[in-house]
Amino acid sequence: MAATKKYVYYFGGKKAEGKAEMKELLGGKGANLAEMVNIGLPVPAGFTITTEVCTAYYANKKKYPKELKEQVLKALAKVEKDMGAKFGDKNNPLLLSIRSGARSSMPGMMETVLNVGLNNSTREGLIKKTGNARFVYDSQRRLIQMYSDVVMEKAAGIEPAEGKGVRAQLENELHKMKEARGCKSDTDLSEEDLKELVEIYKAKVKKVLGKPFPENAMEQLWGAIGAVFQSWMGKRAISYRRIEGIPDEWGTAVNVQSMVFGNMGDNSATGVAFTRNPATGENYFYGEWLINAQGEDVVAGIRTPNPINEVGKSEHTEHLVSLEKAMPSTYKELHKIERALEKHYKDMLDIEFTIQEGKLYMLQCRVGKRNGTAAVKMALDMLNEKLIDEKTAIMRVQPSQLEELLFPLLDPKDEAKAHVLCKGLPAGPGGAKGQIVLTAADAVEKIKKDPNAKLILVREETNPEDIEGMRAAQAILTARGGMTSHAALVARGWGKCCIVGAADIKIDWNTRTINIKGEKLKEGDWISLNGTKGLVYKGDLQTVSAAENKDLVKFLTLVDKYRKLKVRTNADTPEDALKARQFGAEGIGLFRTEHMFYGKGSEEPLFHLRKMIISSTETERRAALNDLFKYVKKDVKGTLAAMSGFPVTFRTIDPPLHEFVPENRDERVRLAKALNITMEQFEERAGKLHEVNPMMGHRGVRLGVTYPEITEMQIRAIFEATAELLKEGKKAFPEIMIPVTCIETELAHQYEIFNKVYPEVCQKYGMKKIPHLIGTMIEIPRAALAADKIAKYAQFFSFGTNDLTQMTFGFSRDDIGGFLGDYLEKKILPVDPFQQIDQPTVGELMKIACERGRSVRPDIKLGICGEHGGEPTSVEFCHRIGLSYVSCSPFRVPIARLAAARAAIKDIKAPAKKKK
Ligand code: PEP
Ligand code: MG
Repeated sequence: MAATKKYVYYFGGKKAEGKAEMKELLGGKGANLAEMVNIGLPVPAGFTITTEVCTAYYANKKKYPKELKEQVLKALAKVEKDMGAKFGDKNNPLLLSIRSGARSSMPGMMETVLNVGLNNSTREGLIKKTGNARFVYDSQRRLIQMYSDVVMEKAAGIEPAEGKGVRAQLENELHKMKEARGCKSDTDLSEEDLKELVEIYKAKVKKVLGKPFPENAMEQLWGAIGAVFQSWMGKRAISYRRIEGIPDEWGTAVNVQSMVFGNMGDNSATGVAFTRNPATGENYFYGEWLINAQGEDVVAGIRTPNPINEVGKSEHTEHLVSLEKAMPSTYKELHKIERALEKHYKDMLDIEFTIQEGKLYMLQCRVGKRNGTAAVKMALDMLNEKLIDEKTAIMRVQPSQLEELLFPLLDPKDEAKAHVLCKGLPAGPGGAKGQIVLTAADAVEKIKKDPNAKLILVREETNPEDIEGMRAAQAILTARGGMTSHAALVARGWGKCCIVGAADIKIDWNTRTINIKGEKLKEGDWISLNGTKGLVYKGDLQTVSAAENKDLVKFLTLVDKYRKLKVRTNADTPEDALKARQFGAEGIGLFRTEHMFYGKGSEEPLFHLRKMIISSTETERRAALNDLFKYVKKDVKGTLAAMSGFPVTFRTIDPPLHEFVPENRDERVRLAKALNITMEQFEERAGKLHEVNPMMGHRGVRLGVTYPEITEMQIRAIFEATAELLKEGKKAFPEIMIPVTCIETELAHQYEIFNKVYPEVCQKYGMKKIPHLIGTMIEIPRAALAADKIAKYAQFFSFGTNDLTQMTFGFSRDDIGGFLGDYLEKKILPVDPFQQIDQPTVGELMKIACERGRSVRPDIKLGICGEHGGEPTSVEFCHRIGLSYVSCSPFRVPIARLAAARAAIKDIKAPAKKKK
């Protein structure tokens, strides 16, 4: 016969059956309870029912494995022995707490039931044992309140509307009783009051739920265990898992543990603490405690907790008594344990403890959550203290945590109180506040009048014409668009706060108001944006600056020791290039030449570009291009100079030309005049540029094929700028990149232009050669599959994963905002593929392109310049397929640096994986 599967793991006394490494099976809480027992800490005995039971429960129509009952009873007997009390015994009763515990912590998302085992008969035994009747009645009424809510209502799936549930109704009875007795606080109620309340509660439960509160201890136990398993599939837990990317299959464990009481009088207490300050990272014991209370009172915020020690006091808590002062010897013991735990786990821990009549018990320890600032500081400090090594320090900081160190943020205190108007996609991180403005022109106008005005540009969507207004605004909020829509790209490039695809926003142009789910806001009203979370708030929230931070610089220097991937930036102006260099960019992976026609100082070049676009003959076009040349050359030169020798990838013009045709009537008239044509002729020429599906239309290299003179002008500008810099004794290294290629003949065609221009420029400047590379983007599936042919003409490939994703999925990158929310909510898509590379498909195409490209040109340079280049999972993928660099928005450069280092470290730790 096969050995019986072990579903229950005991912990208590000096020995546990589990240990810290068994998180998958025992959940985080169970594994750590076991570990604390094993290192000799005072932990109330108990047992953990494994996550496998949860999985089996759901796989088997909510039935437990048949061995479970016996194993639970056996473990319970051991707990009883260890604690010297018996579950359900009327003379010497043992009470239990039943708590969830998933592999990774899901704070507050699942259920807990405390005081299980209390009924009218065991309570008498407990009163005798403790001599504290008030405390026992209070525990019983707490059990009824929690159990009826969690087990009898929620787990039974009969939860009514918010505020109508049994818990709220019992809470109401408590209020009534307090009012009748003239009591301010729960603790003012007498023993008699609480005894009466227990009976009132029971009657109410029967009335509301139609069945009596279970008096049988075993029935309570199994009811509570079932409710915890049920809560794994509760709404809150499911949505939390979706956000955190925790798979449903993991399941939760259930921890059944002897109760200890922090509410047995003034020599009892309970508290929550961190081994270091989780908000700042400072190295001191930090926490809160409450005298005569149960754990939930600290967490639920019913009473304001006291600071645990003197060093943790703030101006708001100055007057409160610390545990250090109130119970000095217990504090000393706790402090010693907390130091030992940190040394053992080599990380900052979050601990829960209870003091029952002067005796300290540890109820939980787990690696503590921390913000980005604290994560960086702790990693560096612990490295300094030799608690951890360099690789561990790097792995301690999540790339996304760096974001908050780079942008101003909304003040979290203000945010907690503010009213959320709606949600959108978090396109540009950080926080911003400002007055609503509905057009880019108004934004520009308002800033002209008052350069200090704070504005939020709210649009249905943005287009290149809005660029000035976007610059002028503090932040951008759009109703449509995805993470790579125009607004998102531009905002991220600037490091500007931006939320896109906030579909609840309806703009009413008649009244110039916006309507958000029935709430009306007008121009000039204040709103605040949390671009990191995609939240829009009503009102004028405070922002806090996340100024340049020495720790960050030090941390990133460490990071650079380990990464293999180079990190470049996508930048289109010398200013952005400089900013990116400050963040550590090692080159520009994408200079979108068309972007020089938007924004500051772009009026004149844009006019010449438009003239070129509306031209109808090559002569006209060449004349306009001649006028344009000096602007392009100046921009190219400035950017190359700013990058002082780091490579700069200039992409030839990409967007469909009609995007640049002005809508503004005055502009159209001015252009017609300059070209010496009538308005009818103008309209006819502009109309011809219209395309039904411009994203797949006349764009990218196709423009260079139709109008070789455009490519020619750009290549000439790039080489002349480079030549001049080199002559001036400066360093410069351009890479010329052809976009939207699908077949090698397109490149062959562009190559001919290069072959004509390059020698001409060399000759003009008397130079034998001008260092450079010429290559292409891979952003069409066909190009990826034909990479061997294409590599003949390309010294480098840069993956344009924005378009590659668009064309692989067939999702328009500009319209995905309309349905992405549904797709994510209904789990049709696990994540937004425009944010994370879809490795099995888009990633596979990249892999194929790398292999085929290398087969023809072994030293081909490979990089990525789609937005994914700054997203940590995608950076890791790029490392694995052996790209030489990633390129991303300036503000994501530090994030990509860290992600690249983490990928390299994971490789060292698990080298076998690489061979896969
Ligand atoms: C891409 O397609 O990934 C890319 C970088 O080009 P763009 O976003 O300008 O189309
Ligand atoms: Mg593209």
